[in-house]
Amino acid sequence: MGHKELEIDCAKVYVLESDAWEIVRAGMPFLDRDISPSFVASGAHELEFVASHQNEFCFGLDRRGRLKKWGAVILYKYDSEWIRVHVERDTCKHCGWAGLIALAAEPALYFGTPDPEAAFDRAWNRRVVGCPLCGNALPRRPVWVEAAKHAMKDSQQSRHS
Ligand SMILES: [Zn+2]
Repeated sequence: MGHKELEIDCAKVYVLESDAWEIVRAGMPFLDRDISPSFVASGAHELEFVASHQNEFCFGLDRRGRLKKWGAVILYKYDSEWIRVHVERDTCKHCGWAGLIALAAEPALYFGTPDPEAAFDRAWNRRVVGCPLCGNALPRRPVWVEAAKHAMKDSQQSRHS
C-alpha cells in the first residue's frame, strides 16, 4: 500500500498515497494497528478535501500521545515543506467572502509532538494570506485560502451583512 514516512515537527507522519485512502476509509489495519471506525468517520471529510486538492495538500496519519492512537493529519505544501494544517470555514468581515482556509497556527495540531511550543511558534510565523476577493486580512491567520471562484458555489449560505 502506498505510503511514505516523513518527519514533521520532530514526529513521524505516514503520508498516504491515494491508493491507501480506500484502505483507511474501509477501516482496514494500517501498518501494525487497526484504525478505529470512529476515526474513519472523522477522517472521511478530510479525505474528501484532500482528494480534491491533491497538488497542494496530502493526508497523513500519525500516532501521538501516550496511547499512540492513530490521528488524521492534513498536510499542506508550504514552499517545499509539508506542514500540518487544520482546514475550516472562514468569512471575510470586509467583503463577506466565505470559504475554506487552512490554518497552521492552531495549537491542537501540535499536541503530543515532542516540542509543541516550538512547533506552534514556527507555525505562527508562517506567511499569512488574505481574503481572495478583497485582499484584507481574515479573522484567523490562514496559510492558504480557497480560490474565490471555486468558493462561490460553496458560499451560498454566506451572510450578506
Ligand atoms: Zn474580503
